[in-house]
Amino acid sequence: MKVLKFGGTSVGSAQRMREVADLVTGSDRKIVVLSAMSGTTNSLVEIANYLYKKNYDGANEVINRLERGYLDTVAQLFKKEEFKHKGLELVKSHFDYVKSFTKDVFTVFEEKSVLAQGELLTTALFNFFLQENGHNSVLLPALDFMRTNKNNEPDTVYIRENLERIMSEFEDTHLFITQGYICRNAFGEVDNLQRGGSDYTASLIGAALEVEEIQIWTDIDGMHNNDPRFVENTTSIAEISFDEAAELAYFGAKILHPTSVLPAKLANVPVKVLNTMDPKAVGTTISSSQHKDRITAVAAKDGITAIKIKSGRMLLAFGFLRKVFEIFESYKTPIDMITTSEVGVSVTIDNNRHLEEILDDLRKFSTVEVDYDQVIVCVVGDLVAENKGYANRIFEALKEIPIRMISYGGSEHNISLLVDAKDKKDALQALSAKLF
Ligand code: ASP
Ligand code: MG
Repeated sequence: MKVLKFGGTSVGSAQRMREVADLVTGSDRKIVVLSAMSGTTNSLVEIANYLYKKNYDGANEVINRLERGYLDTVAQLFKKEEFKHKGLELVKSHFDYVKSFTKDVFTVFEEKSVLAQGELLTTALFNFFLQENGHNSVLLPALDFMRTNKNNEPDTVYIRENLERIMSEFEDTHLFITQGYICRNAFGEVDNLQRGGSDYTASLIGAALEVEEIQIWTDIDGMHNNDPRFVENTTSIAEISFDEAAELAYFGAKILHPTSVLPAKLANVPVKVLNTMDPKAVGTTISSSQHKDRITAVAAKDGITAIKIKSGRMLLAFGFLRKVFEIFESYKTPIDMITTSEVGVSVTIDNNRHLEEILDDLRKFSTVEVDYDQVIVCVVGDLVAENKGYANRIFEALKEIPIRMISYGGSEHNISLLVDAKDKKDALQALSAKLF
C-alpha cells in the first residue's frame, strides 16, 4: 500500500482534479490525502477573522466568493446530472454550515470547525468524481482516526488502531480518499495539524500503516542540488537521506517541513516528492539510506548577522558560553551557526529584532563586533570524518572567496560557511563547478 498526498494547487481546479484522478486510479492499494483546493484555507481564515469581529458583511462576502468558486468547480467537474446535483447539495450544505456562524457565538472551537470545511469539501467532491467515473473509492473521515494528545502531539496509537479498524471494513477496496490537515484533539474537538499540515497527515498515515512509500505530489520536480536562481544546470536530487533533507530544510529547500517527515523517518518509510506537472519525472526520494562518498547538495541562507564576542574572561573559564547563550535565549533569538576559539566565539542569527538589546547585554562582559548582510552557505552530503578530501575540495572551490566562519563536525552531513552577501553567487557557482 502507498499513501499519496496532493496539495491545494494539485487539486486547485476541476481540470487538476481530473489529472489527479488519472494518477491515483491504478490497480495497487492507495490512500490519497488531499489538501483543500488552493486558496480555500486562506479564505476560511479570513472568514473566521471577520466572524470574530462580528463583521458579518465582511464574512458573507468572502463566504459567497468562496462558494461561487466551488459551484464553478462542480459545474466543470461533473458530467452526469446525478453527480452535478450531489455536488451542488454538498457545496450548499458546507456553506450553510459556515454561514450558520454569522448568527451564533464564535470562539476558537467554531473557528476550527470552519477551517476544517476546505478539506472536507474537496475530498468529498473528489470522491464523487471518482464514483461518477466508475471507481470504487471510499472516503475515510480523518476526524474518525486522526487525533492529537494533550501535548498537541499526534496520538500514534489511536491513529493506528482506528485507521486499521476502519479500513478492515473495506478489505476489497483499493482506493481510499481522506482529508489532510484536520484532526480531533485530546478532547475530541475538531482541530487541525497547523497550516500546511497535510504533509504531516500523509506522513502519520504512512507511518501508522507502515506503507511501502509516501508520495508527496507538488508542483516542483523535487529538491535541487543547488539554487537554480543563481546557478545554471542544477539537477534534481534523486535520492537523499532523511538527515540530509533535514539539514537542507533550514536553507529554504523546504519542500517538506522536517517535523512532517519525522513520523516517516521513525517508521522508516521512504518519502517521494513528485511533480504533478511532470508525473513521469523521478522526483526526489527521501529515505534512511545514506549515499556513501557523495556531496548531495549546496544551499544558501540570506539575511544572516554574525556577532563576534571576545572576552579575556573566556580563556580557561567555564560557564562563558552559557552566559552568552542565555542572553540570546532571553530575547527568544535562535542562534544558527557557532564557531569558537580560546578567546572568542562567533554566532549567527537570522532575526535582528532584538539585536541592540542583545549587544548591550553582551557588552557588559565582552567586546562585540557585528557583520551584517552575511550568507550561510552549506554543503550537505556524506561528510563523516573518515571521508577524507571533501573539506579540501570545498576550500579549493572557495579559494578566491573570503570566508568569515566555518562550521564542521556538528553533524555528519554538513559543512557550513559564512560569506558576505556580495560573494554568495560566486560561492554557489564555484561549489557547483567543483563538487558536481
Ligand atoms: N489546507 C491547509 C493549508 O492551507 C493544509 C495544507 O494545505 O496542507 O494550510
Ligand atoms: Mg500545502
